[in-house]
Amino acid sequence: MPRAKRAKQYRKVMSQYCMNFGFRTPYQVLVDSSILADACRFKMDFVKGLQQNLQAKDIKPLVTTCTMRKLYGSKGEPCVEDAITLGKTFERRRCGHTPETHPEPLPELECLSSCIDPKGSGKNSFHYCLGTNDINIRSYFRGVQGVPLLYISRSVLILEPMAPGSVAQRSRDERAKLRAEILRPGGKRKRDEDDEDDSRSGAQGERVGGKLVKKAKGPNPLSVKKPKKKPATDGLSSKPKTTPTTAEGAEASTSVEGPKRKRKRKNKSAAGPKDEAAGAAEAGEPHGAEEAVEA
Ligand SMILES: [Zn+2]
Repeated sequence: MPRAKRAKQYRKVMSQYCMNFGFRTPYQVLVDSSILADACRFKMDFVKGLQQNLQAKDIKPLVTTCTMRKLYGSKGEPCVEDAITLGKTFERRRCGHTPETHPEPLPELECLSSCIDPKGSGKNSFHYCLGTNDINIRSYFRGVQGVPLLYISRSVLILEPMAPGSVAQRSRDERAKLRAEILRPGGKRKRDEDDEDDSRSGAQGERVGGKLVKKAKGPNPLSVKKPKKKPATDGLSSKPKTTPTTAEGAEASTSVEGPKRKRKRKNKSAAGPKDEAAGAAEAGEPHGAEEAVEA
């Protein structure tokens, strides 16, 4: 994958960890002996790689006491000296597995698990990222929700896509948030009140199956002005003048409404006196023109 595309993907992944799992910079990155050794083997700028992958300058690499003890215990193996040197530059995560209580360092999976998920609840409460080139460790922490996993593949540091378990949790959280927003007293209620305000101020609202359906707040300004500008060319506008009484009647029946509606009423009444009651009831609906043509 080209570097720019990868950077974009990593930015997206990290922003999801921030939004859904509460990650904040400086990101704490636990690294184990395997990734330290590989970083040295490939002579990588490991810290820079972490910054690029996590899309943040502000990162805090951490090594556990057990990891350092394991490295000290395997001196002589390739790259271990360099790995120790690199590991020493990072802050120590005191895991509590000291030589006094643990004569042998804990296996790293166990130690890391006690740091990342001490209660065994499958959650990454302290928002650690984890860098490891141990396949088993990585696979284990895919089962813990919200652990960004980093590894080195052919001298390139990779940030894994979010694990399926974390993705599932993320969408559950998002659905719950959405539900909470809908049910929240302040949200939906407020909207209802707004609608009531609107209907009081003249706009028409109708309850359809419990939902308030808003109608247009008045006649379409385009359809109102048109007959005014060209009374001669518009055949409809001549008719209202011939039936002034019905027009007045329609106006009187809806005189509470704004004056802007008058234009519409006149068109309406042109449909004929027989439909006056119906016409008045439907006043405001844009069918006046069609009915006028029929009449
Ligand atoms: Zn430990």
